[in-house]
Amino acid sequence: MTTSIVPAIIVHGGAGGVVVGHEANALAACARAAAAGLDVLQAGGPALDAVQAAVRVLEDEPEFNAGVGSALTRDGTVELDAAIMDGATRRAGAVAAVPNLRQPIDLARLVLDDGEHILLCGDGAWAFARERGIAPVAPEALVTERARQRLRDRHKERGGGTVGACAVDAAGRCAAATSTGGMTGKRPGRIGDTPLPGCGTYADEAGACSATGSGEYIIRATLGRFVVDRLRGDLPAHDAAVSAVWELASIGGDGGVICVDRRGRIGHARNTPAMPVAWATLAEPKPKAEL
Ligand code: ASP
Repeated sequence: MTTSIVPAIIVHGGAGGVVVGHEANALAACARAAAAGLDVLQAGGPALDAVQAAVRVLEDEPEFNAGVGSALTRDGTVELDAAIMDGATRRAGAVAAVPNLRQPIDLARLVLDDGEHILLCGDGAWAFARERGIAPVAPEALVTERARQRLRDRHKERGGGTVGACAVDAAGRCAAATSTGGMTGKRPGRIGDTPLPGCGTYADEAGACSATGSGEYIIRATLGRFVVDRLRGDLPAHDAAVSAVWELASIGGDGGVICVDRRGRIGHARNTPAMPVAWATLAEPKPKAEL
């Protein structure tokens, strides 16, 4: 029996709530990101390129907590985490606590392509970035007034606005990517779930998952792997996502996940007030978006 694959992509703009009045912006940006990823899939490109293309769009959008608009540490600085994973080969690349970087997902991809290591952080990540021709941006280029306000309002608020994408291509290869500034008011040097394969970002031959929410709980739940393990049988992707959110809640965490299985079935779930998502498939290429 042959099982048909429908190339598909789903993206998120973070669990934790969207600023009132910004809902339409957030949804439109997610739809643009899904369309950018779908363009890659439509051209016959790999899921890995599709998730990178989608996350790049969201990192450049000040609406979200990734790249421009990232959450600030308690010192008012930006420290970025990002990861990308190729399910077919289980190669992964990630960077953690990296400042002054406009598109952290591109650096994570370079780490993956290089293949020597999986996760680089701090000064070492920047040394690698320079070797690969990436130049730092001025620290202020990533800091928005909204991020400053969030730091003033609530020193240690939850996250929100992390971005991620999951895709499957025509060959049934799955990939995931996630990028974040982390939690507002975090201690400098704190690394969350996003860059840890199996936690905030995970893909293998069965599917892909990107998680968002309280990172310390997502790590304890190894949530990305939890979701993809549930995609090995015939469980609908939606049910896998819902069970992951229950698992997260059962240990006291808040957040959400998106996922895709090897056939192109997508799922998303959250236990937070909102999580903007958008998805598109080769069968239904016009992105659908919802909060
Ligand atoms: N999971 C991210 C972190 O803990 C935050 C978020 O998703 O909003 O760094």
